[in-house]
Amino acid sequence: MSSFKLREVFKPQKIEPSEEFDTIIIGGGPAGLGAALYSARYQLKTIIVTKTIGGQAVLAPFIENYLGLPNISGSDLVDKFLKHIMNYNIPIVIDEVVNIRKNDVKWIVETKSERNIQGYVVILATGSERRKLNVPGEEEFIGRGVSYCATCDAPFFKNKTVAVIGGGDAALISALYLAAIASKVYIIHRRGEFRAIKTYIDRVFENPKIETIMNTIVLEIIGKDKVEALRIRNIITGEEKLLKIDGVFVEIGSKPPTELFKKIGIETDENGYAIVKPDHSTNLPGIYVAGDSAGGPYKYRLEQIITAVAEGAIAADSAAKYIMSLKRELGKSKV
Ligand code: NAP
Repeated sequence: MSSFKLREVFKPQKIEPSEEFDTIIIGGGPAGLGAALYSARYQLKTIIVTKTIGGQAVLAPFIENYLGLPNISGSDLVDKFLKHIMNYNIPIVIDEVVNIRKNDVKWIVETKSERNIQGYVVILATGSERRKLNVPGEEEFIGRGVSYCATCDAPFFKNKTVAVIGGGDAALISALYLAAIASKVYIIHRRGEFRAIKTYIDRVFENPKIETIMNTIVLEIIGKDKVEALRIRNIITGEEKLLKIDGVFVEIGSKPPTELFKKIGIETDENGYAIVKPDHSTNLPGIYVAGDSAGGPYKYRLEQIITAVAEGAIAADSAAKYIMSLKRELGKSKV
């Protein structure tokens, strides 16, 4: 594993205020970077606007299912993605998108830093936001025992006792990662069975440092200056107790950026994900959504890095066809 991280020393490019693009990609995670690679290879003038490089992928302690890379950390994989993308001189702007509106045939992407970036198509690869427990003590103790990233914060809990909340792949992977550093790891899950894949479940049950507490919810995170305990309740027996811990890792999944979708006018499904067609287009011509925030009846929900990259490629391919026909219509096809 390399310790040098390209994404940490990477310098965002400056763009001219009047510069116009073919493809504007929002989001610098696997879906956005996958879309950028394909868009640039179609010789479309491409730009990435993103809050962070790598998105949630950088938080993964280890990844064992990216073809060709049997064991790599999320941050090392993102570094490889970024290095590849940098061969194409695609400008990457670090900024937050606040709105997207139409102006004649172009879309204008408005950012928090008051940029107005124009392009024929927008590919939203915005990923999803981490879900919070929303219990007393959670906000108060962020950085003082409450964490959302095992890879980042595990070293603070060497030989200490921690709890991981959740029952999906992320929770179990985090618990396995933490068990190599902490002296004891509890996994607290609200149901009687995990939704993670069997490989991780087997490893969790084989690990002597991990104890699972099922059918249990967290009511409160307690402490004076830092986290000291959790108040938990067994939802079957109703029994409540205090569990002494030094840290808690919240790994309860993510939610899509529904408010932004609604503001732009993108139709969303009942869970707030953008409804996409098989080519990742939306109800708005020229707007595409790829990766974790895409949804609707045609979307096959498999939230993996490998599928996010592939969805980015599909969105970029269909966007390229759209740009080509648009430019033909406008009588200036150079694509
Ligand atoms: P996830 O699969 O959605 O699991 C979230 C877990 O948190 C579920 O067990 C859920 O319980 C629980 N949960 C949700 N809201 C909760 C609440 N308010 N209080 C307590 N528990 C709550 O999320 P994830 O684990 O972050 O994974 C997201 C996606 O990425 C998944 O598709 C996953 O397969 C993928 N992923 C893959 C890998 C890999 O290496 N293969 C690694 C990480 C993530 P219920 O089970 O009761 O719903």
